[in-house]
Amino acid sequence: MDSMAPFSDPVLSQQSAEAVIQLAKQYIQMHGRKPVFMEVCGSHTMALAKTGVKTRLKEYVQLIAGPGCPVCVTDQRTIDSMISLSNGRGIILCTFGDMMRVPGSRHSLLEAKTKGKDIRVVYSPLDSIRIAEQNPDKEIIFLGIGFETTIPLLAAAIKEAEQRGLTNFSIWMTTKLVEPVLRVLLDAGEIHLDGFLLPGHVSVVLGKESYSFLTEEYRMPGVISGFEPVQLLSSIYKLLQLCIENKAKIINDYPYAVSESGNGAAKSLMKKYLKPGDEDWRGIGTIPNSGLVLKDNYQDFDAKKKFKITIASPRKTKCRCGEVIRGLTVPEECILFNKACTPANPIGPCMVSAEGTCAAHYHYMREE
Ligand code: SF4
Ligand code: SF4
Repeated sequence: MDSMAPFSDPVLSQQSAEAVIQLAKQYIQMHGRKPVFMEVCGSHTMALAKTGVKTRLKEYVQLIAGPGCPVCVTDQRTIDSMISLSNGRGIILCTFGDMMRVPGSRHSLLEAKTKGKDIRVVYSPLDSIRIAEQNPDKEIIFLGIGFETTIPLLAAAIKEAEQRGLTNFSIWMTTKLVEPVLRVLLDAGEIHLDGFLLPGHVSVVLGKESYSFLTEEYRMPGVISGFEPVQLLSSIYKLLQLCIENKAKIINDYPYAVSESGNGAAKSLMKKYLKPGDEDWRGIGTIPNSGLVLKDNYQDFDAKKKFKITIASPRKTKCRCGEVIRGLTVPEECILFNKACTPANPIGPCMVSAEGTCAAHYHYMREE
């Protein structure tokens, strides 16, 4: 039997949803309003929409999507830079599949590829190491996006390239860290939040202890959650309990995967090769030390150092992804939603990404 099967059992899901609703009613009676929780992770956003949990709870609990999808927060200038690099002869760009359709200022990587640029989709940064070995006369650049879930893979690729003595491989780092962006959202105070549904996958690497800043500095409760309906509902229930009891605590509700201190091997790999650096977030702007960049000893693998390019400011569009990922608006409020902007013709990254909020609303919550 699938070990996850009990967590998606329909009867148990219904009972769990009913329990959440009863507790939420208690909260509403106490506070005169619905509790507002942010799901930080794009996979949670998609799971909440796809499983119907978001729609089932919408009268009782407001669930806001957060900035946790690495595709959605990739700045337009990153795409523009990659396209401009692909104009160079003898360069092969490699990236993950969901980056291909993310719009830059004018074009996507997919459009550049259809115009003949050598841009290849890989499943892992290690695949691009293989391509570098097979093409010694070319420069291989991997577009390295991702949160703490993916960053250890980028560090592993640098380690591998170093061990194999590759001189034609580099990474265009544009990584994102969870803590700095949550701090920015909380410090900005643009949205009222009662708690966080914390990311399952990222927490496997970081561990529960990495969220202590939320309780100690912001008195904000959080629950680390899995992705199946019963797991999501259990975590929302526990978050509600904390709010009703006015307790600022972090609960690990995904203990089969997440430990107290996280994945030590992944953390030390990141520490060896990478250091904090400023990052541009689409719709948010530059956040100091919100990503990891290569340490000075590994500059030879840093595509930003190896290839100098200047990119103009991104073109303005009516896309409201920036507000969507900050929890300030919902996709339906964007005038392009389900009109000019659809998954077949995305205007912004939130419609492209498999974990994007606009795609989740389009596929699972759209009213015709
Ligand atoms: S990278 Fe991890 S945290 Fe971010 S959206 Fe994907 S699963 Fe969620
Ligand atoms: S519907 Fe499209 S254009 Fe509007 S915010 Fe979402 S991705 Fe951007």
